[in-house]
Amino acid sequence: MAEKRDYYEVLGVDKNADDATIKKAYRALAKKYHPDMNPGDKDAEVKFKEASEAYAVLSDAEKRKQYDQFGHAAFENGAGGGYGGFDFSGADFSDIFGDIFGDLFGGGRSRGRSNGPMKGANLRTRVNMTFEEAVFGVTKEIELNVKEPCPTCKGSGAKPGTSPETCTKCGGKGQVVFSQQSFFGTVRNVQTCPDCGGTGKIIKEKCMDCRGTGYVSIRKKYSVEFPAGVDNGQCKRMSGLGEPGQNGGPRGDVLVEAVVGSHPIFQRQDRDIFSTVPMSYAVACLGGEIIIDTVDGPVVYEVKPGTATDTRIRLRGKGVPSLRDPKSRGDHYVTLVIQVPTKLTHEAKELLKQFDQMTDDSLNAAEKFRASRKEDNSGTADGAGGKKKRKKLF
Ligand SMILES: [Zn+2]
Ligand SMILES: [Zn+2]
Repeated sequence: MAEKRDYYEVLGVDKNADDATIKKAYRALAKKYHPDMNPGDKDAEVKFKEASEAYAVLSDAEKRKQYDQFGHAAFENGAGGGYGGFDFSGADFSDIFGDIFGDLFGGGRSRGRSNGPMKGANLRTRVNMTFEEAVFGVTKEIELNVKEPCPTCKGSGAKPGTSPETCTKCGGKGQVVFSQQSFFGTVRNVQTCPDCGGTGKIIKEKCMDCRGTGYVSIRKKYSVEFPAGVDNGQCKRMSGLGEPGQNGGPRGDVLVEAVVGSHPIFQRQDRDIFSTVPMSYAVACLGGEIIIDTVDGPVVYEVKPGTATDTRIRLRGKGVPSLRDPKSRGDHYVTLVIQVPTKLTHEAKELLKQFDQMTDDSLNAAEKFRASRKEDNSGTADGAGGKKKRKKLF
């Protein structure tokens, strides 16, 4: 028998390596030397077994301690020596092989399932609502396919007059434990019982109405109440309407997701509402009352004289109610934007020109600028023509 290599050396890790490092090292070796990846390669097989044995020991705190104390001698009592005789039963490779190869030994993923009570799965559904419905709350009708106990067999799944029998394969436990001889020793595996599917019961003659499942699907209508302030993507939980539990476990829930439509003028962020409201130049200059739409309806707002465009104002308490306390509401932020009229009568235009002359004479600003340049430096005042040419380049 060849001299056994040190387990740490086999995995290429330090003596003080932590569990994650050991796992990582083994994962890399297992991937490299796994017989499935190296068919017929005896050398790879030996290396794989060696690494697996090292991992089985070093990943187990108790075994690692023994190995650190006594070396290989710690495990040489009657195992026959060599890799083949090593007992792997205590080691859990399933998560590693699950990652690398899928269920290498079959059923590795379903470990731990038993016939104990298990809660049924949750179901999800969605319901559309408008912006305002979300703000103020709404009751929506939904239709669900709900599994109800089959009235024919009263939920047993067995044909009327018969009853389910205890599964003989697993003795009603729902799990079977079996040992599998593999190329590197015996692997103990716990699997969901293939005969009864984990229920521990066998139905010999199935109920025709539910095909032995014990449940029938019924389409039912429910009213779902969404509180004021519900936001897009939030779910209302309807307890006990989901998939039936197993072996006496409770039913799952139905989660009804709110899908909130957008609004033409309001945007929402949490409990605050945002909108943009136009104001005329006259109102911006002189001040005055404007009408602002809110979720509570239009309100009159007094604009201060000399209000700049893009001024943001806050309407307190005109936002979205809090889910916890409907009386507590967010705010509505309004951005006031000066609106520029595009259609003006001749008279209005003339008045505006007059107004401009009286104020900053902006209509003649460029003309004045050119005139001033001509005085300074005659002959280079053709700025407008040059600009046009430059613009064309872009
Ligand atoms: Zn039935
Ligand atoms: Zn069984």
